[in-house]
Amino acid sequence: MTGCETGRVEIYDVVVVGAGFAGVTAARELAMGGGSVLLVDARDRIGGRTWYKRSALGSWDLEMGGNFIDPSQQLVCREVSRYGIEVATPEPLSLPAVCLLGGRLVEGGSPIPLEELGDLERLLQTLMSAAELIDPDRYLTEQDLGELDIGFDRFLDRLRLGPCVRELASVLLSSEAGMDAADASALHWLRLSAAAGGVLRLLGVDNQSFREGSVSLLEAMLAEANVELRLSCPVRRIEKTAGWVAVVTDAERFEARTVVVTVPSGVLGPVEFEPALGDAKLRAVRESHAGTGVKGLGDRPGSARGLVGPRARPGPRYRLDVGGGRGGQSGCRIRP
Ligand SMILES: Cc1cc2nc3c(=O)[nH]c(=O)nc-3n(C[C@H](O)[C@H](O)[C@H](O)COP(=O)(O)OP(=O)(O)OC[C@H]3O[C@@H](n4cnc5c(N)ncnc54)[C@H](O)[C@@H]3O)c2cc1C
Repeated sequence: MTGCETGRVEIYDVVVVGAGFAGVTAARELAMGGGSVLLVDARDRIGGRTWYKRSALGSWDLEMGGNFIDPSQQLVCREVSRYGIEVATPEPLSLPAVCLLGGRLVEGGSPIPLEELGDLERLLQTLMSAAELIDPDRYLTEQDLGELDIGFDRFLDRLRLGPCVRELASVLLSSEAGMDAADASALHWLRLSAAAGGVLRLLGVDNQSFREGSVSLLEAMLAEANVELRLSCPVRRIEKTAGWVAVVTDAERFEARTVVVTVPSGVLGPVEFEPALGDAKLRAVRESHAGTGVKGLGDRPGSARGLVGPRARPGPRYRLDVGGGRGGQSGCRIRP
């Protein structure tokens, strides 16, 4: 593994841009197929939106980004078995320890008042029936699902739910999907529910995390294949010349028969393409994606209430999952 060097032109069968899960998987597959493969990333580490940071908070090693996998995510689970990666026991579904819903602060117990339990049942039934319409193993565009491809907020509005159930649904969606309920398509979330085997399973029943961090899987994948890795090499330009594609970084220019770009749309804008990307792709880059989730970890002594009004006595640590949104709204789950 090396950083960017200067003044050299290297020729490969394939250059893969971006060393997140998509790029590492593509590079491994292509290299195992016998090609010479270069994997380039702008950062000084692999993993992209997954980032297992050692000693991130005192002696705690933390997953700063993507963390949980679910048995319904068959592709990643297949990789986990392939390399014998250890995953932690699934976390059981737990209600948040503290909820602020519909203006009520509830510590422990059900966050839903008795008079809204009927609405909760109606919401779950509607979500489950809608998820059952989806075949998660087929492309969504091949299924007649246009009715469900609306903002999740609009989907909820139609149900005329009580304020606590309405807010709980919005917050859970923001937290699980990492995006604001107004921006997220109900179809996206329902597809995830269908793939997970049900709405409640999606909400956390079978979540598992990597014992040695998500990076342990990526390292195992790269160790199996003969992939050359360059870190700290932001790609600035990708140009097609007769028979070749050139990948230009600040210091180097790589040539290849093929380039695979796994850079997410949100940060693809600064990369110049020659010939330019088509209109549809440019529009997608301009729109970026709906994911705005941030992850927070609260390490504060005291009871859960300490998070809203500090107390001095020592107590358990609480984990905060925050789904950020536009307009200053955010969903937040607090778990011991
Ligand atoms: C806070 C958070 C929590 C999440 N939780 C979960 C979870 O629990 N479970 C789950 O399944 N998913 C989760 N996700 C989503 C998951 O992390 C992503 O879907 C996945 O990591 C995306 O992988 P990728 O390879 O497509 O993209 P990325 O991981 O974004 O990889 C793209 C790579 O491209 C590189 N790059 C960008 N621009 C350039 C350039 N110009 N030149 C060279 N390299 C470049 C980046 O440095 C990056 O390494 C979470 C995401 C976040 C942010």
